[in-house]
Amino acid sequence: MNLPSCPDCGASRTQVYTIKQGLRLLQCGPCRLIWLDNPAIESESFQDAYPSAYFEGYERRWQRKFATDLKRLKWLARFHKPGSSLDIGCSVGHFVAAARSLGWNACGVEPSQAATALARQKGLNVACGFLEEIGFPESGFDMVSLWHVLEHVPYPRHILEEVFRILAPDGIIVLATPNIAHPFARLMGSRWRHIHSHHLYYFTPDSLKSMLRSAGFRIEACQAFGWHTPMLVVARAMKAANDNR
Ligand SMILES: [Zn+2]
Repeated sequence: MNLPSCPDCGASRTQVYTIKQGLRLLQCGPCRLIWLDNPAIESESFQDAYPSAYFEGYERRWQRKFATDLKRLKWLARFHKPGSSLDIGCSVGHFVAAARSLGWNACGVEPSQAATALARQKGLNVACGFLEEIGFPESGFDMVSLWHVLEHVPYPRHILEEVFRILAPDGIIVLATPNIAHPFARLMGSRWRHIHSHHLYYFTPDSLKSMLRSAGFRIEACQAFGWHTPMLVVARAMKAANDNR
């Protein structure tokens, strides 16, 4: 069987990782990256895939999400003091609001017009669009966060490289994404709930750390095998101060 080559490293040694209801996950032999071979989302527009009804749940759960984000931010304080922050795929803005309440100069970027409108109603600074389209200034942020975003994008490496560009020297990137190497994910196999048509990439701690390192980051923390199957990774942009300012 002739399988497509790896969308990240280009290697042609590819194997089928698992198949679920017509969704085929492939894995690259050399770099071990796992991706969805036949994404349905390409055929529908982003605004159709995430209609305003999708965000009503986020609105209802605002208080709980805001409280969770406050806890995350307090934990993140060990890696960086408050400065300027950008939350990519910020939805209705709960993380932006939580960061602002703790002294960050916080903004967000969100491709959904419906979610952006809800965030702006709360007085939050949110740009509507995809990260690459906005063109944020170089070295402009001290912290960039992606909560369950990287698994949705067509080219995660491009996102990480763009985040590196817009981070200040020693700025941090914070990511959460499902961990397909988690024992629970392995146990569930193709029945794991995170395997679905909107998740284009399936990271393991190793494949995520490897992609971050090659984009210029140093791994600061990786919480991958706790109770929850998503993993949390914090990494620092290793760039010299006078290179980019
Ligand atoms: Zn590869």
